[in-house]
Amino acid sequence: MKENKETIIEQAEQAVLHTYNRYPVVLERGEGVYLYDTDGKKYLDFAAGIAVQGLGYHYPGYDEALKAQIDKLLHTSNLYYNTPAMEAASKIVKASGMSKVFFTNSGTEAIEGALKTARKYAYRKDGRNDHEIIAMNHSFHGRSMGALSVTGNEKYQAPFRPLIGGIRFADYNDLESVKAQITDRTCGIILETIQGEGGIYPATEEFLKGIKAICEERDILLILDEIQCGMGRSGSMFAWQEYGVKPDVMTCAKALGCGVPVGAFVLGEKAALGSLEPGDHGTTYGGNPFACAAVSKVFDIFEEQKIVDHVRQIGGYLEKKLDELVEKYECIETRRGKGLIQGLVISNRPVGELVVKSLEEGLLVITAGSNVMRFVPPLIITKEHVDEMIEKFERALKAD
Ligand SMILES: *Cc1c(COP(=O)(O)O)cnc(C)c1O
Repeated sequence: MKENKETIIEQAEQAVLHTYNRYPVVLERGEGVYLYDTDGKKYLDFAAGIAVQGLGYHYPGYDEALKAQIDKLLHTSNLYYNTPAMEAASKIVKASGMSKVFFTNSGTEAIEGALKTARKYAYRKDGRNDHEIIAMNHSFHGRSMGALSVTGNEKYQAPFRPLIGGIRFADYNDLESVKAQITDRTCGIILETIQGEGGIYPATEEFLKGIKAICEERDILLILDEIQCGMGRSGSMFAWQEYGVKPDVMTCAKALGCGVPVGAFVLGEKAALGSLEPGDHGTTYGGNPFACAAVSKVFDIFEEQKIVDHVRQIGGYLEKKLDELVEKYECIETRRGKGLIQGLVISNRPVGELVVKSLEEGLLVITAGSNVMRFVPPLIITKEHVDEMIEKFERALKAD
């Protein structure tokens, strides 16, 4: 089988279900914050596999930890204990100050667990079966039926109705609109601390604190989706830590394993004591020793290498450079974001086209919403990488 780009793409299109319109690039290997395609072309990676590769590629010690776990044990099921899951869960508990962790294989599964937690919490209080969850317009929580049901995007939802019942939508950063959806059956409010796919909208402090107050007053569970903005990306380990608003349930995935597919939902004490019980939830793979060895190593590296401090510094530099672009180019309206989750709002030009031009210049970037360029690089980028990105992106902006 000849391994050239065209034949790989052709064969992929024959065998792989076409649910993505892929860019015509076949990526082969990564090194640091660079990717190489099958033609040997080098790309600066400001997409990080959609905010997954927090530590880039082949971070010192990461591969070795995974290889060591492969040599010991890949999988056991959750019928027994294993050391990596214990270690990984303990590190998440310590970093978050929350209480209990349930490991999943993806973000969408973490959301499923969070939704079940909210329903069970309310069910244990009153035994009713008509509890409601409030979610946000323009949110993104995943593609399984439960997660899709709280994803405020008509295009994603329409073909798959009926979705799960009891979901009401409010407007992000509009506290009154949330209040308008509260009923005596509300059991949970779910939102991203920083909306990602929807267009990089950080929550305002007023909004998040207002929601927290409502949740406390009415004993509703606050679910914060940290799948994209968590794991240091915002400049804090978890974005909610910047606001001083602690959720009752937090969902993680993406950079949790920095490349190994793993997610988690994490419960605060109240939710841990008053919701899911033995038999209520399960997973065959979730918390598998291999995935958890990755999570555990990621937390060690974050601590030893002070990754979050680095994000705070380099994030400031990225913001400054992106703000300069806003000043310089007519077609860039504004910048939104925190740390290393940043968006540029583009007008009068299709963002998809800008992505293609960037690819030609050797830069991987992605979009968010309908008109936002999204910058979610590995957390280990340096000033030089930011400068290189700006140079390449400006060439893409000027190309026609
Ligand atoms: C990516 C994402 C998800 C879904 O995660 P998957 O691993 O793709 O299922 C959920 N919430 C947010 C905020 C995300 O960015």
